[in-house]
Amino acid sequence: MSKLYVKVDLDLCQGHGVCQAEAADVFQLQETDAPYPQSIVLIENPDEAHREQVLRAARFCPNSAITVSEE
Ligand code: SF4
Repeated sequence: MSKLYVKVDLDLCQGHGVCQAEAADVFQLQETDAPYPQSIVLIENPDEAHREQVLRAARFCPNSAITVSEE
């Protein structure tokens, strides 16, 4: 099984929190320089157990700020 890589583009993230709701182990809203909390990736290479959650987070992020790639 290929390995997952997760990234959040903070130029796009506006802190809607959908990602954290879908995959709380992987994404966490934290204070940044932006005027709202933004999503920080806690696990950049999540294991297979997180695959569905991470893909849902990427699909439902309103700003399309999450990239999930595989190698
Ligand atoms: S759902 Fe998207 S815009 Fe919202 S906090 Fe997560 S990455 Fe940012």
